[in-house]
Amino acid sequence: SPVCSLGNIWIAGRSSCLAMEACAETAHSAAIRTVGLAKDERGERMRDWMGRDIHYLRVSLTERCNLKCIYCREETEFCKAKQELSLMELTQLMRIFVDLGITKVRLTGGEPLVRKDLEQIVQMIASFPQINDLSITTNAQGLAERLPVLHHAGLRRVNISLDSLDADRYRRMTRGGELDKVLDSIHAAVKENMTVKINTVLVRGENDTEIGDFIALARDYPVDVRFIELMPFSTLGAADGRRVSGSEILERYPFLHPVEVRDPSQPAKDYCGEGFAGRVGLINPVSHKFCNKCSRVRLTSDGKLRMCLGQDEETDLRPWLCSTGDSLKQVIREAIYQKPEEHSFCSAFHATRAMNQIGG
Ligand code: SAM
Repeated sequence: SPVCSLGNIWIAGRSSCLAMEACAETAHSAAIRTVGLAKDERGERMRDWMGRDIHYLRVSLTERCNLKCIYCREETEFCKAKQELSLMELTQLMRIFVDLGITKVRLTGGEPLVRKDLEQIVQMIASFPQINDLSITTNAQGLAERLPVLHHAGLRRVNISLDSLDADRYRRMTRGGELDKVLDSIHAAVKENMTVKINTVLVRGENDTEIGDFIALARDYPVDVRFIELMPFSTLGAADGRRVSGSEILERYPFLHPVEVRDPSQPAKDYCGEGFAGRVGLINPVSHKFCNKCSRVRLTSDGKLRMCLGQDEETDLRPWLCSTGDSLKQVIREAIYQKPEEHSFCSAFHATRAMNQIGG
């Protein structure tokens, strides 16, 4: 029987679900002629219309966040505990995504740590043998205490957002975050032998004076520091003059030399200096787009499949959760096949949702 925890909504929506299933069968018959599916030793693989191998799912667990980073959402924006996908719904979806060839998952939000069932979600995803890479992106406020259980549940990699090594600036940029909590979490994760990456969004006039300090962190500590170019979300993100490009960093720090990337589909270009314990990564989605090698799609916390961060089209999967048979799988397959060619950050992109609502 279909897994569905929508209660009354399921009963009310059942007849429309059946109608949608019928539609999906028809749509699928047409789609199957065009959708590029291939089977290999991993099972089914998804390729979009451009032939890109889609094996990476970014799952947003919530829109809620305990911080309000200045480039992510507006200060006044109220963060709703909207209809978040439950553990049961996420399990149903993961089964299908894994069947379709997803091997890599990153949990994000909002702030994934605000989900009380995060440990169970990690355990559920880690239990799929096909998933060979499971990680989380977090602001790490309160991560240190939960790390041992998360590690035990199957989490091996953490990306920690950290925009300043100065406590006052960090508090200002995050509108309330505590630097000590992040640093404690970084130490705890390194101690647990987890792979740690630091995500730093550079904002000119704010934290661009700290680039050298962050590079020194990668020199002295076994963590990768990745400078992420400001993307056009929120009023601040839309201000081109605040963006600091990777080329500018390389000009200012010429001792950084390129090194071979660990994963060819990763967005970061990696650099090192003499004797570095970690690496410096440059992620330049605006000045150097990497859409041609994009392998990811996104699942929002309210059940929408979003094929591109920088394009607003989404497919609502929630109505299909109560369907029987292969309808949901077909809807996902078809949506992924139509993944847009590239983002439109450079051509007057106005996101209809803030970054925390999509899942960064
Ligand atoms: N709350 C978690 C965190 O802080 O890492 C996960 C969600 S946050 C939206 C995910 C990532 O998106 C963070 O690394 C954040 O810095 C990045 N991000 C948010 N808004 C951005 C923007 N306008 N440009 C570039 N990166 C952004």
